Amino acid sequence: MDAEPPRRGDRQEQCAACHTPDSTYLWSNERWRLKSPPAPSGLPVVVILEPRAHLDLGDLSTMHAAELGVLTVRLERAIRSLESVAQVHVNRWGDGTAHLQQWFLARPHGYLQLRGPFMTMWDEILPPVEEHEWQMNLEYIAAWLSDD
Ligand SMILES: [Zn+2]
Repeated sequence: MDAEPPRRGDRQEQCAACHTPDSTYLWSNERWRLKSPPAPSGLPVVVILEPRAHLDLGDLSTMHAAELGVLTVRLERAIRSLESVAQVHVNRWGDGTAHLQQWFLARPHGYLQLRGPFMTMWDEILPPVEEHEWQMNLEYIAAWLSDD
């Protein structure tokens, strides 16, 4: 390809993240919001951290970058503390959206075949986790972040 394809939200007025109300997020503060995909998938937890402002990773101010580091550690700790979770993968791809999305993907305990970079594919292959368990995990993580 001679030219890179456009990313979703390259034009801020068309950015889905910028036009989504807080009510659809699991947690938010003045500068950050946390959401999940709309339905359970194969992994016990998949959550996405976004800045409230229309920024990509390289656009973050020093303050935003410092907060991202603190929130990344807090989220990893919260997700990994779930009994069903062995490890948490933290990813930012950047090909799909112009608005920063940092993904947290939980590897279920004992599922060693899911280790490594193919875990995102396993998320789509495995049967979805129970709706009740998925909802409880998300509520637990949101409560952990709200507990300053
Ligand atoms: Zn945006």
